[in-house]
Amino acid sequence: MSRFDPRLLLDPPRYPADRYAPLADRIKRLFATTQSDVVFVQAEAILALEAVATSIARPGLVAVNVVTSPYGAWFGTWLARAGATVHQVSAAAGQPIEAAAVSACLDRLPHVDIVAAVHAESSNGALNPLGALAALARSREALFVVDAVASVGGHPIDFDRHDIDIAVIGAQKGLAGPAGVSAVAVSARAWAHIDALPDFAPSSLSLAELKRNWLDRGRLALPGTPPALEFWALDAALDRVEAEGIEQVIARHRQAARASRAGLRALGVEPWIAADDAASALVTSAPVPEGVHADALIADVAKLGVGLLPGFGEIEGKIVRLDHTGLHASFDAVLANVTAFGAVLERWGASVDVGAAVRAVREIYAL
Ligand SMILES: *Cc1c(COP(=O)(O)O)cnc(C)c1O
Repeated sequence: MSRFDPRLLLDPPRYPADRYAPLADRIKRLFATTQSDVVFVQAEAILALEAVATSIARPGLVAVNVVTSPYGAWFGTWLARAGATVHQVSAAAGQPIEAAAVSACLDRLPHVDIVAAVHAESSNGALNPLGALAALARSREALFVVDAVASVGGHPIDFDRHDIDIAVIGAQKGLAGPAGVSAVAVSARAWAHIDALPDFAPSSLSLAELKRNWLDRGRLALPGTPPALEFWALDAALDRVEAEGIEQVIARHRQAARASRAGLRALGVEPWIAADDAASALVTSAPVPEGVHADALIADVAKLGVGLLPGFGEIEGKIVRLDHTGLHASFDAVLANVTAFGAVLERWGASVDVGAAVRAVREIYAL
């Protein structure tokens, strides 16, 4: 029985006009940026990503787009739809990109305007090398665009230090907030790029229009009817993140990832992403045994009341994801994931050591 009463969501007060700017400034702190502007896209992060691609690409521009999941692939199609010539650099299925592959692609091109990549992947557990990719983009004077939807709260983003030009975040992953409003940080260089392109307003996908209607008007009320529920929820999620401290939120995700990986290894299962420093802190993926579809394993684990997730994208069916995002970045969630996964493998006849996995998780939490 759910104790959730949806009637509580009716008749919310409007989100006050003078709170949007402070809310944007609070988000800047999550990006570690004082140099950029943060604008809100009143929609799920997928739409914010489409808005970014659509706003920065035009015929004649050249983009190098890193693909490590369906999110990156979609970003490439939006860049192409807006007219850019897109060079795709794809990692092995479900794995992080090697900076050398991006570097090789850049070396083949006389001119590059945009380099785009996902930071951390929730769909397969890969972590891309943000600093190296940022440096490569900078070396070619290209705009560097990052999908940080899944990494915010799990990894430091360091927008200013890495000289990032555009980063998109949602609150629904590591920040344990609402999915219906997103934020985009935009550098001065990126605004100059956008301002030099013909705009296509009126459109909810136009960053230029967001700038004109909000930033250039003193950051008061947002245009349209902003979703009050979503903004109140984002405000509350940031309150909770700030009370814990963003560094601690990140440390909690990292600890959950370390414990999940140690637990899998103690079971006798090598994590899907082999290198610890190339693994996302949001989810830990594990391969499923040869000849088994992940859905069968997930269904059996669900009988124990534990929710493992399927892989998303090319590796669907081949991996399961142990989720430790947001409130699941906790001892109890990690322990339940690892032991339930191990218990089902054991029942299926695999030689795994569930007791050792419990000890390994416990050790990371220093219990
Ligand atoms: C979750 C996620 C998104 C946004 O997807 P939603 O469907 O809006 O939750 C975008 N990019 C990445 C890398 C993600 O993990």
